Amino acid sequence: MEKYCSNCGKKLNEGENVCSNCQNQNNDVISKTDKNALIGFILGLVSVVSWIIPIFGYATGICGLVFSIKGMNSEVNRGKAIAGFVLCIVFLVFSLINSIIGVIINLNSYYYL
Ligand SMILES: [Zn+2]
Repeated sequence: MEKYCSNCGKKLNEGENVCSNCQNQNNDVISKTDKNALIGFILGLVSVVSWIIPIFGYATGICGLVFSIKGMNSEVNRGKAIAGFVLCIVFLVFSLINSIIGVIINLNSYYYL
């Protein structure tokens, strides 16, 4: 993961928050990895609801998985990345079960018609 000084733009070494060039404190620097972790977590939360409609469940679940995996190396949001990862897997399974049940119900109603 790469961080850059928010003041002068110099690349910061890993784990370094104070810029060696301008001494600027960079606590508020959000790296791409941290963002991915956060997006993965949010998509994980969305999939708690979206699995009810399998198409949305698959979309949010798979996207959330990708972002969570990308965000796994995040120092700040590692917990969120893991939570997002678990949520996405659980609700991908829900989506799968839901779509299988949907197919069975459709087949049954087809036979009864
Ligand atoms: Zn700087």
